Amino acid sequence: MTASTRLLIVGPQGSGKGTQGVRISEAFGVPVVSTGDIFRANINGGTELGAQVSEITARGDLVPDELTSEIVRDRLSDEDAANGFVLDGYPRNAVQVGHLDDFLGGRGEALDAVILLDVPREESIGRLQLRAHEQGRADDTVEGIAHRLDIYEKETAPILDVYGERGIVDRIDGVGSLDEITERIFAALAARGLAVTV
Ligand code: AMP
Repeated sequence: MTASTRLLIVGPQGSGKGTQGVRISEAFGVPVVSTGDIFRANINGGTELGAQVSEITARGDLVPDELTSEIVRDRLSDEDAANGFVLDGYPRNAVQVGHLDDFLGGRGEALDAVILLDVPREESIGRLQLRAHEQGRADDTVEGIAHRLDIYEKETAPILDVYGERGIVDRIDGVGSLDEITERIFAALAARGLAVTV
């Protein structure tokens, strides 16, 4: 039987969770499920969902919980996510944590670990401003960045208390080279018995 690897990677915008999420997914042979990427693909593809969320994401506000959770439930029901996944950007508040618990609980599953990429606010802002120059994302304006970091601190950081009580949070220092940070993550996961399989 294949062991499961159900992970969540959390961190402020600009913490590098997108990059590290992909590295973890490749190493463990499970897909990344990034709500931000799903929304951006729909906006760029001109879908109905894209039209629904484009203004909300451009403002840096959160897309309604029920809509977001439905998209995640659909995606996690795909066959490639049966043995695990790396969630990136979801859940982002307490309501979404409840939705995910209900969904996974209904399948007799639970998250195995929550990786928190710890990066100071000033460092996040610097990295996001650099990304704004390089990628020109619509929500990477100075106001957009500050607004999203505020939402992170107010709504997303508290979910770490919930997962912390379950004993599944690994706090990783997110400052360093990409390879150093990946090594820290793999070491923390290995300590939980989650070893790289691919
Ligand atoms: P991200 O790439 O994770 O920073 O997400 C980009 C934008 O997509 C966010 O600023 C939100 O507008 C929206 N978004 C992504 N994930 C969620 C979520 N879990 N709940 C609500 N909105 C989200």
